Amino acid sequence: MQGLGGLRYHTRMNVTPSTDPKPRLRALSQEELVSFLAGHNFPAFRAKQVFHWVQKKGIRDFDSMRNVPKEFRAFLAEHTCFGGVEQVLAEKPSADSSVKFLFQLADGRKVESVLMPGAGADREKMTLCVSSQVGCAVDCKFCVTGKNGFFRQMTVDEIVDQALYARHYLTQQNDGRILRNLVFMGMGEPLLNTENLLPALRILIDHEGMDLSPRRITVSTSGILPGLDELARSGTDVMLAISLNATTQEERETIMPITRRYPLDELLAACRRYPLRGGSRITFEYVLLAGVNDSLRHARQIIRLVHGIPTKVNIIPFNPDPSLPYQRPADNVVEEFSETIRAANITCNIRWSKALDVSGACGQLAGQYRQKTAAGVVVLPRE
Ligand code: SAH
Ligand code: SF4
Repeated sequence: MQGLGGLRYHTRMNVTPSTDPKPRLRALSQEELVSFLAGHNFPAFRAKQVFHWVQKKGIRDFDSMRNVPKEFRAFLAEHTCFGGVEQVLAEKPSADSSVKFLFQLADGRKVESVLMPGAGADREKMTLCVSSQVGCAVDCKFCVTGKNGFFRQMTVDEIVDQALYARHYLTQQNDGRILRNLVFMGMGEPLLNTENLLPALRILIDHEGMDLSPRRITVSTSGILPGLDELARSGTDVMLAISLNATTQEERETIMPITRRYPLDELLAACRRYPLRGGSRITFEYVLLAGVNDSLRHARQIIRLVHGIPTKVNIIPFNPDPSLPYQRPADNVVEEFSETIRAANITCNIRWSKALDVSGACGQLAGQYRQKTAAGVVVLPRE
């Protein structure tokens, strides 16, 4: 047992992502399962059954695979593991019906995801804000995850399991809430981890698995151009969000140093090439920092920059953290900024923070519990 910020939890040290050589079932596509099992002389329909149990039913132990022979389950238990998150250190429900999950990974690292309610009549249709890396190397000056630095890539199974676990959590609550959308806006820069992101996306949208609609999955990026082109070519058809956050190359470099390598004009050119299906739009996110990027000149520049790109703008009033040197603008500044964009016939939503009371809002995910009072510990069954 160890303690962390008032929490007590169990650790299990015998499995780490880098050393366990067994295939991880939550990381395998149907095709990969077919070829793995074929190598051990099992027919393809067994792969389909396993995929169904793991990705559709979300089981967490081999004995739950009720329609397969015992010997096959024994084979799986010996030659594979489930992978995914090791355990859930805390589930923290917020007053606004959001829930923040703190996951521990097999090597002891921690990441967070946040479930958020939909707006208005869609309140029960939840969006999960998923992490893609442990930490982040991009170093945006307004982001706690960036401030804490980069630790490692998340693996396919770890990415997929956040969604599986959130769905499992909602099923257990049995209160009508369902998991409908995924946004890769948790910890990390997804397009610096395409190696794991793209296979995870393919598993998440597989009709035989979670069957999430690609139109309801959004990958958010600070503008990593090679990754953006890779995502465009992947054929996954997921939605794209660009964290714009400033309107000139110079101002962007000040708060997002990575943009020196991936300049604004090239980013906008990549957006213009991005394959958009049937009426879908690119979301431009814009964190509003008081006195830095929140003037009406900035709003008018956004309008000019996105000209010709099917666009939706999301304004995110800065979520403060004691370690960050910025302030949130007054509400009327946020409203006026957004109105200016709307006046140009561009859809513009304000993302008033969810889960602020549990430090689960955009840019606040630190991968650890800083509060003394924490919710319970969920120990996942071992496979
Ligand atoms: N790395 C990706 C996705 C994770 S960050 C990206 O940067 O797009 C998700 C969103 O949170 C981004 O739009 C980012 O600009 C925003 N964000 C980061 N820190 C924030 C903060 N302190 N307040 C409000 N939004 C923030
Ligand atoms: Fe990384 Fe996104 Fe935070 Fe920038 S805003 S440091 S890219 S997680």
